[in-house]
Amino acid sequence: MPEAPEVERVREVLAARVEGATLEGIRMVGRRLVRRHDPELLATVSGRPIVSMRRIGKFLVFDLGTDALVVHLGMAGRLVVSDASATATHVQLVLDFRRAVITLVDPRTFSEAFVDVLGTDGRPRRLAGLGPDVFGPEEEIAASLERHAARSRRAIKTALLDQRVVAGLGNMYADETLFRVGVHPSTPMNVLGRRLVAIAEAAGDVAREALAAGGTTFADRAYRDPLDRPGAFGARLAVYQRAGSPCPRCATSIVRRVLQGRSAHWCPRCQQGGG
Ligand SMILES: [Zn+2]
Repeated sequence: MPEAPEVERVREVLAARVEGATLEGIRMVGRRLVRRHDPELLATVSGRPIVSMRRIGKFLVFDLGTDALVVHLGMAGRLVVSDASATATHVQLVLDFRRAVITLVDPRTFSEAFVDVLGTDGRPRRLAGLGPDVFGPEEEIAASLERHAARSRRAIKTALLDQRVVAGLGNMYADETLFRVGVHPSTPMNVLGRRLVAIAEAAGDVAREALAAGGTTFADRAYRDPLDRPGAFGARLAVYQRAGSPCPRCATSIVRRVLQGRSAHWCPRCQQGGG
C-alpha cells in the first residue's frame, strides 16, 4: 500500500504538471468508485484550475480554491501520467489536462476519489480528523502519541496505523519505525513513556529516507511513480517482508506474525517485550 513517502513522490511528480493548469475534463470509470461517490459532484470540478497540489497523510489533494478533488490510492492504486492514446486496464478515473492525461489505475479498486469543501483550516472537511503528518514537526507527532498513550494499553503498532494518531504511516513504515527504536510492535502505549519521542523521530526519519529513495517498490511492482519509475527504498527495509532473513543489526531471523489483523515484522532479539 502506498504510504506517505510514495504519495508525496506522486504529488511531486504531478504538481509540476497540474499546478496552475485547468482540469479540462474528469471521467469516473471504475464501477466501485461510481457506486461509492457522486459522479455529478465530481463533474463540478471540470473546467477549473488546480491552485495547488497537496498531500495530507496518504491523501492527494488537488486544491481548487474553495473545494478540492481528493484522491486516496487505497491498497494498490496508481496515478499515471499518460498520453491520450494510452490504453491502460483497471482505469478508475481519468483527469484531462491540456498537456497531460492523468489516470487513476487500480486493479484492486480500493481507491477513492471525491470532491470536498475546504474547512476553515484549509483542509478538505473529511480529512479534518487526521493526526499530525508523518513529515511534519516531530514534536507534534510525539505530542499526539503521548496524548493517545495516556491510560491506553493499545499496542503501539496499532496506534501508528491509526491515521488520527499520526497521518501517513502504513504497515511497512510502522514496522520499520519500531525496529529502529527497538520497540516490540505489541508494546502497550502507556508503558512507553519518553520512548514515544524516539518513535516520533524515527517515524519522520524513515519517511524522509524513503521519500529520498523514491519510495518502496516490491517485486509485484504495485507501486511506481506517475512516470513509471520504481522506488529504491525496498533494499533498505530492515524488517518489513523480511521474515526469515537476518536482522541487519544482530543477524537473528526476522519474524512475522499477525497482530490485531495486520501482519507485523520484527527482530525478536532487538525488539523484546510486548504486551
Ligand atoms: Zn536484531
